[in-house]
Amino acid sequence: MFGNPIEQSKSPIIHSMFAQQCGIKLSYTKRLAPVDDFSSSANEFFEQSNAIGANVTMPFKHAAMTWVDKLSKQAGRAGAVNTIIRRNNKFIGDNTDGIGLVADLIQHEVELNEAKVLLIGAGGAAKGAVPALIEAGVRSVEIYNRSIDKAELLVAAVDKYANKKASLYQADVNQYDLIINATSLSLHGQIPDLPASIFTQQPAIYDMVYQSSATAFMVEAKKQACNTLVDGLGMLVNQAAESFYLWFDVRPDTNAVLEYLRRAY
Ligand code: NDP
Repeated sequence: MFGNPIEQSKSPIIHSMFAQQCGIKLSYTKRLAPVDDFSSSANEFFEQSNAIGANVTMPFKHAAMTWVDKLSKQAGRAGAVNTIIRRNNKFIGDNTDGIGLVADLIQHEVELNEAKVLLIGAGGAAKGAVPALIEAGVRSVEIYNRSIDKAELLVAAVDKYANKKASLYQADVNQYDLIINATSLSLHGQIPDLPASIFTQQPAIYDMVYQSSATAFMVEAKKQACNTLVDGLGMLVNQAAESFYLWFDVRPDTNAVLEYLRRAY
């Protein structure tokens, strides 16, 4: 896995557990790539003929798009690559973040068909989420972000493949079935600058951040009488499972790994 910083990543543990389950001999290591030179690190790693794939995390998800030979539909729509797969000595860039999110929402029995979604954030994680949500059948995605220009760019990008499915957050509407916090605010114990009226319909709440206790956003939503509150650990494990599937054509059991991580952290 390439990233910078990288030491915090749980991916090596997750993939070694998947490999053990599936009887696959796997070496999955962290690589601290220089912030301005993803290419050299990727070239060096893939010089090894047995290097069959890699994950890419911040800040290289965009740089990886130009390094690979071909993009999957998901990666093209998300504008980011988090998984590289070697096929016939060509490199395919894919994005499993959105699939991981949707898989976790489904595991938590959150209804996505025709759902009205408020997505908070317009960074890499938000961009990965939108194509998968649309594919899962949501009715609409309203996007709110501190920097409005980035939210506008995301809406315009979505319009290219799903005309008018996404729009900017409108302060006076506020009827949501699902709210997804795709900002890093919860890492700092902070919540987005939005009115309590977003919780009026008691939507399901998903915070992409994960930690040992409920995140600040989940705590706030609970105060506002929301009952379905999910953090991002399941997304992390499910996006890893999808990467594993792309490399090995085997679907690992995510529940055992999730249970282990919940106990261990
Ligand atoms: P980015 O840096 O690309 O985006 C960060 C987002 O958070 C932007 O929308 C940014 O707004 C917003 N933000 C940051 N600080 C503030 C602030 N002080 N006030 C308001 N908004 C703020 O990061 P990612 O999109 O990659 O990741 C976002 C979060 O999602 C991270 O915490 C990450 O850990 C988590 N994540 C979880 C995954 C999982 O598997 N569970 C997978 C990927 C990410 P602005 O545009 O205005 O700067």
